[in-house]
Amino acid sequence: MMFERVREVLDDREAVARSWKEQGKKVVGWVCPYVPEELIHAADMLPFRVMGAPVTIVKGDAYLYPNICSFNRVVLELALGGRYDFLDGVVTANVCDHIRRLYDAWHFFLDTPLKLILSLPHKTAENAVAHFKDELLRFKNSLERLSGAEISDSALKNSIKTYNRARELLRRIYELRREDEPPISGAEALEVVKAGMSLPKEEYVALLEELFENLEQRDKRYKSNARIMITGSDLDDPGFVKLIEDAGGVVVADDLCTGSRYFWEDVDVGGDTLEALARRYLSPVLCARMHPYEAHIEHIIKMAGDFNVDGIIFEALKFCDIYGGEYPLLRERLKEEGFDIPLLLLDREYALSGVEQLKTRIQAFIESLS
Ligand code: SF4
Repeated sequence: MMFERVREVLDDREAVARSWKEQGKKVVGWVCPYVPEELIHAADMLPFRVMGAPVTIVKGDAYLYPNICSFNRVVLELALGGRYDFLDGVVTANVCDHIRRLYDAWHFFLDTPLKLILSLPHKTAENAVAHFKDELLRFKNSLERLSGAEISDSALKNSIKTYNRARELLRRIYELRREDEPPISGAEALEVVKAGMSLPKEEYVALLEELFENLEQRDKRYKSNARIMITGSDLDDPGFVKLIEDAGGVVVADDLCTGSRYFWEDVDVGGDTLEALARRYLSPVLCARMHPYEAHIEHIIKMAGDFNVDGIIFEALKFCDIYGGEYPLLRERLKEEGFDIPLLLLDREYALSGVEQLKTRIQAFIESLS
């Protein structure tokens, strides 16, 4: 079964962390893709993405305002309930005020040994790169204190090479989605990327190599009435993508932090290593929070063209100011001459809800495209 290992990982992500810890090694959680996992990997620790899960929010609502996006309230619910007690560290960046409040609550109410928030500039000018490089040095020093060992430059370069290899393979798998009838669905692609956010990278690279070969030869193809791209807020639920595909579309591209944003760009291994990490992780491709904001919008439009999409679904978590703010800018840009890509906005909560209503809207959109 082609996706057997991927699904095994997703069914019990913590099992991967448990078996890592049984070897006497540490696990460090990261909350958003602005945290360079390569540093954690080079410290011989397991980088593990902190995500939500289906759960009723009780404590998350007690400790955070209700107008904090439900992703952060779900994560806090899980963390306060002990789900992330196995973590030896948790690291995030000040991507948005919602994540900052999650970090504040985690910092005050949980005793994870290492807790760190990186100061992430909004711009990519040289002084911003220098500032973020200093932040990465602070991160590196914190990891060294946690592990009791120095992270050598050669270890860090090797980690970057391993990560670049994983990114390259993911991009090759995404290339297959440009075909008229892709051998991988959007829901499967999301599963593949998501599995890599908990697996040790060496195992993940081997898995991707095998998967790519199998996909190239796969007889099963996804025919559709409409080629769809998804963009917007945190989305890690393949069930949401499946709703679109069950309605007759096929998701052939995405601009999501659990999708292409995670691997679209490599880190340069040539020069100063921390500076190279700082440059890559300040990329506007990673999130709509960067300025000038046009760069991310142009990236979405280019990807939609490259993957020959018929329509874009823009999903925004309620109260997400970053993506709620990007939607009208993208809509206006798409209205300009030369672009003719229909756009559907779906407001949603982190946990899949209001399924019937969602289905109706998605179906109507796909029918309008075909
Ligand atoms: S969904 Fe929006 S508000 Fe929530 S963490 Fe992501 S960027 Fe921040």
